[in-house]
Amino acid sequence: MNKAEVLVIGSGAAGLSCALRLAKAGHRVVVVSKTSLQSGSTLWAQGGISAVLDAEDSTENHVRDTLVAGAGLCKEDAVRFTVEGGPGGIAWLLEQGVAFTEEDGEERGKRLHLTREGGHSHRRVVHAADATGRAVETTLATVAAAHPNIRIREFCSAVDLIVDRTARRVLGAYLYDIPNGRVIAVGAKAVVLATGGANQVYLYSSNPHGASGDGIAMAWRAGCRIANMEFMQFHPTTLFHRDARNFLISEALRGEGAVLRLVNPDGSAGERFMPRFDPRAELAPRDIVARAIDHEMKRLGLRHVFLDITHKPASFILHHFPSIHAHCLSLGIDICKQPIPVVPSAHFTCGGVLTDLAARTDIDGLYAVGEVACTGLHGANRLASNSLLECLVFGKAAADDLIATLPQREMPQNLRPWDESRVTDSDEDVVVSHNWLELRTFMWDYVGIVRTTKRLQRAQHRVEMLTREIQEYYGNYRVSADLIELRNLVTCADLIVRSALARKESRGLHYTLDYPQTLDAAKPTILPGRGTGA
Ligand SMILES: Cc1cc2nc3c(=O)[nH]c(=O)nc-3n(C[C@H](O)[C@H](O)[C@H](O)COP(=O)(O)OP(=O)(O)OC[C@H]3O[C@@H](n4cnc5c(N)ncnc54)[C@H](O)[C@@H]3O)c2cc1C
Repeated sequence: MNKAEVLVIGSGAAGLSCALRLAKAGHRVVVVSKTSLQSGSTLWAQGGISAVLDAEDSTENHVRDTLVAGAGLCKEDAVRFTVEGGPGGIAWLLEQGVAFTEEDGEERGKRLHLTREGGHSHRRVVHAADATGRAVETTLATVAAAHPNIRIREFCSAVDLIVDRTARRVLGAYLYDIPNGRVIAVGAKAVVLATGGANQVYLYSSNPHGASGDGIAMAWRAGCRIANMEFMQFHPTTLFHRDARNFLISEALRGEGAVLRLVNPDGSAGERFMPRFDPRAELAPRDIVARAIDHEMKRLGLRHVFLDITHKPASFILHHFPSIHAHCLSLGIDICKQPIPVVPSAHFTCGGVLTDLAARTDIDGLYAVGEVACTGLHGANRLASNSLLECLVFGKAAADDLIATLPQREMPQNLRPWDESRVTDSDEDVVVSHNWLELRTFMWDYVGIVRTTKRLQRAQHRVEMLTREIQEYYGNYRVSADLIELRNLVTCADLIVRSALARKESRGLHYTLDYPQTLDAAKPTILPGRGTGA
C-alpha cells in the first residue's frame, strides 16, 4: 500500500501553503495535482490579496466590509479569524520569496503598495503588478518542489476518498495516475482537500479547465455536509471566443470608459444598455452589471454582448491595457478598432465543504482549505481579494491543527485495492464529451445569474437524468480524467440546483424572479452528505 503521513490533494495557494507549513514542522507530505504542480485558479488571480496593512485601516473596517458583501450570511467568527490572519499571511508569503509590488522609492520589503478594490473601504489589496496569483503560485511551487519532506505527484487525479464509515474517519484516497491509466490506493493519517471551486459547471467560466468541484463532490460522497452552493459568483465580462473560453476582460476597462452595447441583427455593435438598468451604468457593482447583461442576452437570444472602448485613442488603450490588447489581437480582435465580444462567466464558488475554524470537516482526519471549503467567510457574496487570503489563513489553520494532532493519529492498514474486475475500456468517449457540454449548457441557461423556480426544476430533471447515465457509464468502464471530472460536475450541479431551490428569497449572489425579496432572517443552506441519513 502507498502511504503518506498527510495527503494534500491540490497544489494551488491553499494546498501548497498548508503542505509547506507541515513540511517545515518535520511532517512528510504528499501533494497531488491532476495537472502540473503550478496550476489551479491561483495561477490566474490578477488583482491581489486583501490584508489590513495601512495605518489608516483597521481589522474592524475589513470585517465590516466583508460582512456587508456577504449580505447577512457570513459567520462573524470566521470573518474576524480570516481578517486577523491577513498581515501574518502576507509576511509568510514575503518570507517564501513572493515579490509583491512596493511603494516607489521604499527599501525592499519596507512598504508594500496597496490598491483599493470594489467593496473595500480602504486601500488594502497587496499585489504583484497585475499577476498576483502567478507570483504566489510559482514561488510556493518552487519552494515546495525543493523541500525534502514534500513529495509531489503531478497529473494524478483523486477519484474518491477512502473512509471508515462506521468510525467516520478518513483513511486515504484512490488516485488515478493519468499517464499510466492506473488507480492506486494511498493510505494517510490525514487528508487535506485543496481542490478549488466548481465553476466549470457553467458553459462560461473564468476558471481553468480543472475547476470541476472534485473536492466538493468527493467530500459529499464521503458523507460531509455541503453548504451555500447556490452562491456562485459571476464575473461580468469574459472574452467570448471559440478558442479562448476563460480570458477575463478586466473591470478596469469599464473604469476607463468602455461601454456595454447590444448586438445588432447584422452582428455590429448596437445600443448602449447599462444606463437603462442603473444610474451608475457600466460602473455599477459586478452583480448588477452581470445581471443586466444576462437579462439582455436572454431577452434577445444573444450569444454575447459587446464591450466597446474604440472611442478612446489607440495610444491610451495600448498604454493602459497592453496585455488585453495583445491577447485579443492574437485572436483577430483589434480592441482599438473593434468592440470586444463578452459574456459573464462563473468566477468563484462561495459555498463548499462545511468546515470549522481549524479547517476540519465532518469526517475525522479530513480537512478542506481554499475555494473547496465553506468556512463562513464569504456568506452570500465574496468581497474581492478575500479568497487568496482565505487560502493562506485556513491553509495555516489546518497545518496548525494537524501539527498538534498527527502524533496521536494512526496510519491505516490494508486498504481495499481499487477494483477493476467488472469494467472494460470505453468505446464511446463521445458520451462523456456530449454530457459534459449538455450539463454546462443547461446550467448556464437555467441556473445562471437570474433564476426562476421553473427553470431550476427543468435543470433538476436534466441533472437527475444525466446522473443516472453517468453513474451507469462509471460503473461499466475504466475511469479517465474526463469521466472523473464529469461525474463530479454533475454532483456539484445537483448540489447547486437543490440549494437554489431551497432558498425562497433573493440574497447576495442568488437572485430569483419568483422570490425577489430578502427575508429578515439569514440562514445558510446546508445539505447533508450522501448516505449520512442526516
Ligand atoms: C481569473 C481569476 C482571477 C482571480 N483573481 C483573484 C484575486 O485577484 N484575488 C483573490 O483573492 N482571488 C482571485 N481569484 C480567486 C482565487 O484565485 C481562487 O479562489 C484561489 O486561487 C483558489 O485557490 P485554491 O488553492 O483553493 O484552488 P486552486 O488554485 O484552484 O487549485 C486547485 C488545485 O487542485 C488540483 N485538483 C483539483 N481537483 C483535483 C483532483 N481530483 N485530484 C488532484 N488534484 C486536483 C488542481 O490541479 C490544482 O492544483 C481569481 C480567480 C480567477 C479564476
